[in-house]
Amino acid sequence: MQADVAIIGCGPTGALLGNLLGARGLSVAIFEKQPAIYDLPRAVHFDGETMRVFQSAGLAEAVLPETRVNPGMLFKDPAGRTLIDWSRDMSIGPMGWPESYRFHQPGLERVLRAGLARYPNVRLHESTAVTAHRQDDTGVTLTTDKGTYGAAHVVACDGTGSPTREALGIGLHDLGFHERWLVVDLRLTRDRPDLGDHSIQFCDPERPATYVRCVGPRRRWEMRIDSGDPDHFAPDEIWRRLSRWITPADADLERAAVYTFRSRLAARWREGRVFLAGDAAHQTPPFMGQGMCAGIRDAANLAWKLAAVHHGVDPAILDTYESERAPNARAFIQLAADMGQLINQTVQGHLPQGRMRSIWPDLGPGLGPRDGIGGALAPQVGRADDAAPTGFHLLTRAPFDADLPAAQGAEDWLAERDLFGVILRPDGYALDHAATPEGLHEALARHADLLDAVPPRRL
Ligand SMILES: Cc1cc2nc3c(=O)[nH]c(=O)nc-3n(C[C@H](O)[C@H](O)[C@H](O)COP(=O)(O)OP(=O)(O)OC[C@H]3O[C@@H](n4cnc5c(N)ncnc54)[C@H](O)[C@@H]3O)c2cc1C
Repeated sequence: MQADVAIIGCGPTGALLGNLLGARGLSVAIFEKQPAIYDLPRAVHFDGETMRVFQSAGLAEAVLPETRVNPGMLFKDPAGRTLIDWSRDMSIGPMGWPESYRFHQPGLERVLRAGLARYPNVRLHESTAVTAHRQDDTGVTLTTDKGTYGAAHVVACDGTGSPTREALGIGLHDLGFHERWLVVDLRLTRDRPDLGDHSIQFCDPERPATYVRCVGPRRRWEMRIDSGDPDHFAPDEIWRRLSRWITPADADLERAAVYTFRSRLAARWREGRVFLAGDAAHQTPPFMGQGMCAGIRDAANLAWKLAAVHHGVDPAILDTYESERAPNARAFIQLAADMGQLINQTVQGHLPQGRMRSIWPDLGPGLGPRDGIGGALAPQVGRADDAAPTGFHLLTRAPFDADLPAAQGAEDWLAERDLFGVILRPDGYALDHAATPEGLHEALARHADLLDAVPPRRL
């Protein structure tokens, strides 16, 4: 069997990529070795940009019931004093969605997998492990425990331990953070409003910990453990460690796991026709809730480029996947690792005080100019992204006659940058821009081949 794209691994990265490629009409085969969705505690936060990507896959409405808008995070010292306030705006922000959401990862993954069923051109092979791959100039052959499959391109979304990355001999750059943490999910059996709606980072060199107010009755605690601690904790020991916050009188223990939090980037994200995406390409300590978001951004970046290549665009465009994505992912990993160090600071170590703001790093070098505007995440006006069949559209200061839909309403953003208009890519980043209507026509002409080649989405 021959697919346009084969995806190895159906975690959030692979499942979203399958949706985005399916929507553009490509034939997609997804291979997932497990029979069911992973059910140990992992992601509980995603940002407004991620919600915008779910919107681009036609899944925002289905994702929303799985979420809760997040008021932000406080960093506290052992005496309970707030050291840093990272409160988030809970109203609609520049992405067209609130800045920050809480969610339950298995629930989100169920929505993403259900989305795949919209596309007869997408097939999910569950309980099917990819054991080897071989590529030549024409395509890639995957060997699985159920048979062999061919594809023009392969995206390995096979997680932290990525067997594909290993098989390709691609190493990892280590940004230096690795710590073992115990992660516990509880379900409240009675109200505990005193725990609060903000997440809390307990900055304590002896016992650094994180509290997260999740969706519905779920609450999360993460606690750093020692190198000598075991990989599994008995319930009694978990309750002992939680006792300063909560007891069995208030909640049931739902699930617990021990993880080593890491900060690493794959040395290369592409080998010929095979790409790495998600945790296979990068691993982020979870303090900013950005690891999965990075994989979602990978899928959003790669999907329309793969679709363009399958409609005749020069495959060289695929080199911009790593060049654009890696610096953006690195910026989040570095900040998350810095936050991890902060949480471990000594009280006497004079933790910085003040407010923290979210970051929106630009893409690295790639398509279009890099001048502080090209490659920057551009705002969404209303649901303007939806009005664009291919995802490419314009934000302009005045009505503008072009083949792409043009939305108005981002006057401040455009005026601050002395722009008449900007061309947005399907992933929400600025492709190009101009100070005048004539300049915008010229910019559109420069990118005409790409704009014409990317097929429309069927949502
Ligand atoms: C405690 C914790 C908290 C976190 N909190 C957050 C958070 O708040 N926000 C956030 O954005 N991120 C968070 N993360 C990170 C997030 O969970 C991961 O980044 C995300 O799950 C990665 O998705 P993925 O699809 O790339 O990989 P995975 O979810 O790991 O999926 C990989 C899939 O590939 C499959 N696979 C592997 N090998 C093969 C093979 N040979 N053949 C077939 N299938 C294969 C696996 O079975 C698996 O299903 C957290 C992580 C942890 C551990």
